[in-house]
Amino acid sequence: MLKNEYLKTIRERIQRENPYQAEYLQAVDEFLPSIEVYVEQNPQIEENSILELLMQAERVIKFRVPWQDDQGKWQVNRGYRIQFNSALGPYKGGLRLHPTVNESIMKFLGFEQVFKNSLTGLPIGGGKGGSNFDPKGKSDGEIMRFCQSFMLELQNYIGPDTDVPAGDIGVGGREIGYLFGQYKRIQQYSSGTLTGKPLGIWGSLARTEATGYGLAYFVQNLLKDYQDSLAGKKVAVSGSGNVATYAIEKVHQLGAVAVTCSDSNGFIYDEQGIDVALLKEIKEVKRGRISEYAERKPSAKYFSNESVWTLKESYDIALPCATQNEINEVSAKIIIENGAKIVAEGANMPSTLKAVKVFQENGVLFCPAKAANAGGVAVSALEMAQNSQRLPWTFEKVDGKLEKIMEDIYVTCRDTAKTYGHAGNLVIGANIAGFARVADAMIIQGLV
Ligand code: GLU
Repeated sequence: MLKNEYLKTIRERIQRENPYQAEYLQAVDEFLPSIEVYVEQNPQIEENSILELLMQAERVIKFRVPWQDDQGKWQVNRGYRIQFNSALGPYKGGLRLHPTVNESIMKFLGFEQVFKNSLTGLPIGGGKGGSNFDPKGKSDGEIMRFCQSFMLELQNYIGPDTDVPAGDIGVGGREIGYLFGQYKRIQQYSSGTLTGKPLGIWGSLARTEATGYGLAYFVQNLLKDYQDSLAGKKVAVSGSGNVATYAIEKVHQLGAVAVTCSDSNGFIYDEQGIDVALLKEIKEVKRGRISEYAERKPSAKYFSNESVWTLKESYDIALPCATQNEINEVSAKIIIENGAKIVAEGANMPSTLKAVKVFQENGVLFCPAKAANAGGVAVSALEMAQNSQRLPWTFEKVDGKLEKIMEDIYVTCRDTAKTYGHAGNLVIGANIAGFARVADAMIIQGLV
């Protein structure tokens, strides 16, 4: 697959050093072939061993997280923080709480975050963290005790100018609130150490909406290039967390109709369009299951134990917003048969490498996560700016900046792809543009 000798040696070394890390290797295999043309035209990359340095996380922190359950029994989980690259700023990236979390998943997410954050054009490096703790079915007290114990260890490594965690799957305002409370108890008040904070403790307006809204803005910009818009489009969405919910809300505001959403138990097809108020009530207020949606809305059908991507109905756009590798080759073919012309990733790496290939070979306009879902971390960086200024901005100001950032990311990816001879390939555009900025920053600083 790789032709360039330097890249081949890099790939071999990563394989040797990370033999069982399937997700990390998958992210690397998406990345390396797409920057080949840039590496060939820019000898300073090889001369300065940039990829040897970049592909190795600057720091991998692993720790034990003991916590007491409601029965008074001690439980223990594994905690992680991957400080992947700080060439462009403090490590920045979410914390994921999910039973699947392991070092490979943390590293793939941290790696992706480096280039995503670079694409935002804001001063943030890349990192990721989390734990294999499963928040599902846990009481508030258990979540709080877990978060406090997690932060007792994590606080050693983070700070407003060094490493700024936020949320990801399983971590929303409630968890960030508990994490922040514990940080403050130990390290004094420093609001800029975490983002995605609830508004009452100086979170940013529009942060909750940012990833989903940003995804819709990205797609809108792409459509604009084809003298088209979201108006009248039918959209399939997976997931029902904040990325999916606010992607649905924004595509509705822009005149499209989203007809699906899902959780790990099944999915909803509602041909009248997903009722966002009902979705929020079930998921955000009651922390319930998506099956309840069908019990309450007669036009909706519930498909138990199935993925959205098995659905055979026509739609124009697919927005995978659930989790990694939710779309394989088979589902990619179904998506194409359903008539989708655009696939934009709201989740991180929701498409397997083979699925991406199927999309690209069939003329689907494929928008990779590190560009299309960068709105969340972009508004996190705006939250850091507000915290440093000690001034909250209005919703309109933050949302306006988000819109502009997503437009800039789209234009950068499109134009970079064209410059390097791959017009229309947003994977190549995103990876080269994201990488070039990080590589330049490393060289300027003497490779630190
Ligand atoms: N977890 C989000 C992501 O994957 C946001 C990270 C952040 O806001 O720092 O980009």
